[in-house]
Amino acid sequence: MQQLTCANCGNTYTGQFCNQCGQKQAHRYTIGHVLHELLHVFTHADKGIFSFGWQVLTKPGTIALDMVEGGAKRYF
Ligand SMILES: [Zn+2]
Repeated sequence: MQQLTCANCGNTYTGQFCNQCGQKQAHRYTIGHVLHELLHVFTHADKGIFSFGWQVLTKPGTIALDMVEGGAKRYF
């Protein structure tokens, strides 16, 4: 097993997780990771904003009422 040094606490350990603080072995972020995250950011936001735009057009009063009653989380 390869000896690893925890980037969080400096403990030397083997395996996937630090036995001192529990942090997972750090890995380098690749361009693939970044693109994947970017895709997530945009797809979630777009879905939210299109849905919001559609609801504003079709039932404008419902969103306002939901917001007042505390249901704001589901809107973009
Ligand atoms: Zn650690």
